[in-house]
Amino acid sequence: MPPSAPFTPEDRPVIVLGAGATKACGGPLTGEILPRAFGLGVQHAELLEPIDRLLIEKFNVPENAADRRESDYPPLPLVLSLLDMAIDRRHALGPQWDSARLREARASAEYAVFGVIERMLEHPDSFSPHTHLFRRITQATGAPARAISLNYDLLADNAMIEAGDGRYPEYGCDIATGAYKESERHGELLKLHGSLNLIYCPTCHRLDMGIGRSGYTYKIARNTFDAPALDESFERRRETKCRDCGTPPRPVMITPTTMKDYRNPHISRVWYQAQRALRDCNRLVFIGYSLPWDDTDVIYLLKRGAGHLPPERITIVEHGEPHAPGKPRDEHEVGRRYQAIFGRGVDFQPIGFLGWLHANMP
Ligand SMILES: [Zn+2]
Repeated sequence: MPPSAPFTPEDRPVIVLGAGATKACGGPLTGEILPRAFGLGVQHAELLEPIDRLLIEKFNVPENAADRRESDYPPLPLVLSLLDMAIDRRHALGPQWDSARLREARASAEYAVFGVIERMLEHPDSFSPHTHLFRRITQATGAPARAISLNYDLLADNAMIEAGDGRYPEYGCDIATGAYKESERHGELLKLHGSLNLIYCPTCHRLDMGIGRSGYTYKIARNTFDAPALDESFERRRETKCRDCGTPPRPVMITPTTMKDYRNPHISRVWYQAQRALRDCNRLVFIGYSLPWDDTDVIYLLKRGAGHLPPERITIVEHGEPHAPGKPRDEHEVGRRYQAIFGRGVDFQPIGFLGWLHANMP
């Protein structure tokens, strides 16, 4: 397998980051979040109580966390989607689970995501593959990096800020936090499913960017003094208030079902900006995104935005399958899906994020 073509000053690449990019940095895959939430010693375990009860009562997960196997847990996006469906339709899930309790379980699941990601990424490696990639792109093309992320975590956010010497990326949505509004931009980061650091008021639509206490969020960003504390908005959410209207704000974490109704106007803007970025790019690099067939919204976005790209301009960086590293893409499940969507000539690199960086931009 030849290496990918080097980036040149004519290139206007867009990087698409999937869960595999986070996994390569020691973070959780989505499917690992629920098992980890009950096995890692996440802070404020009492906040996990509502989602724990739901898993026990509605999914027959064993009562005692120590007796559970990873395979006992349903996938997190499915749980969130079912909760959203029931809440939106004002259904109860049995006599014990009315809308109010389902909302509590939703908030508790959001805290599980926050707690697990904070815990698993609290001591990031000194080498950040994301930062390295963004810097190399800027060196080769002369322009700041542009990325579309499907992840809630803040690895790409931190890397953009690091590669931009303390400047924030453009997020493609209307963030009201002064520290963000007044700062300079460097690069673009479009997070299609929301983000751990975004706090949204459903009443007046104010969107804020929160800062975490652990330092994992924006160690080096400038002007973060007026940003709301992210930890508080997850840990004491009933007491936190929107700065404009006083409603308790919510984190922005979109699931496959809620994505389609676009009730959060900020998220529809992010999707629109992502389409614009794709239309403008002449190279597309997917890192750790397995292109599942049921991600129709994402495939639709790619088809509408990146339809002009010939397959050779599309690179897919994927982990090798355990028993046959680097086997041809026809035999690699993910490679076959990309080939079926974009054509035979795609540049398929099943050598992992780190392996690809090492081979292509040491
Ligand atoms: Zn508000």
